Amino acid sequence: MLDQLTGNERVKKLLKRILEARRVPGALLFAGEDAIGKKLFALEIAKALNCRSPRGVEGCGQCPSCVRIGKFNYPQSSESDDWKGIIWTDHADVGMVVAPKRVLLVEQMRLIEREANYRPYEGKARVFLIEDADKLNDASANALLKVLEEPPHTSHIVLLTSRPAMLLPTIRSRCQMIRFSPLTAAEIETHLVRNKIASPNEARIRARVARGSLGRAVAQDLASFNEQRKAMLQVLQALSISEDRIQLLRSAEELNEAKYKDEYESRLDILETLIRDAWILSLRTPDESIVNEDLLPQLKKISASLDRRRPAGWISQIEEMREQLIVNINRKAATDALFLTMAAAAPPLQRKRFVP
Ligand SMILES: [Zn+2]
Repeated sequence: MLDQLTGNERVKKLLKRILEARRVPGALLFAGEDAIGKKLFALEIAKALNCRSPRGVEGCGQCPSCVRIGKFNYPQSSESDDWKGIIWTDHADVGMVVAPKRVLLVEQMRLIEREANYRPYEGKARVFLIEDADKLNDASANALLKVLEEPPHTSHIVLLTSRPAMLLPTIRSRCQMIRFSPLTAAEIETHLVRNKIASPNEARIRARVARGSLGRAVAQDLASFNEQRKAMLQVLQALSISEDRIQLLRSAEELNEAKYKDEYESRLDILETLIRDAWILSLRTPDESIVNEDLLPQLKKISASLDRRRPAGWISQIEEMREQLIVNINRKAATDALFLTMAAAAPPLQRKRFVP
């Protein structure tokens, strides 16, 4: 059932309308950030079309057909040639293709073409998912075009992508595009607690660092997260308590180390949550709006010696640097400069105008 999925209420309404009208397009394009549930939404369509005891227009999620659609048979090893085929679910009419390496292959698109032309084996419709459709190259995109041009009415192809702009216009124009939004932190938090993926305290932290992606919230290695947070706490301490520039440069250097390359963005995210927390504490608003509740003692200490005019500036300095990084300035130089700018003394209070 769509309502059991997290977030994207607008998309749920739209898909329900499509199902009610019995007008599921032959080619759909689900566009939106990675790991926000696009695949689960696509599978709900497959369930709705094949369910043996539908609830309204939706799949029940419990009949043998729905259950089997929920289970993909992934190849056993990452080296397996089976990745070049269709990865079927336990249901003979629902499958998916994934790029074995960097691109989706022509032979994969030909397989979809062949399979899409068969009538459904056991259900009422065949549904094929194409994961990371932005990995189509010219050749495989052209092979796919043939199916998209005239899909049999019992077959549906759902392209999933976080980069719709990378698709050829000819592909995009043949698909009905549905845009997904990133999830809110509250939606992620509720999901993690409801599905017992994390304790309430941990869920709160995971949700805040997930940047809208449920997948990221779940996959985040908490040990590594704690490690990163410890390092960023040091930065904030050096900025507010010790005013230790050597420590700041050391932290900037660490942030740029190759082994932390993949963590660069998330470390900055964490730093921002810490700054916000210390800021909130210094404003003496209730503790419940704090993200890093478990660090309350350390954060209180920071907030006690924090000049309240500075945190807003720090956050915008971080954001500005991130924008600059998009246009590819030297990351190392930018990080050094960022920390030193942040360390610069707060602007003096605006002088009261002298009235004679
Ligand atoms: Zn069912």
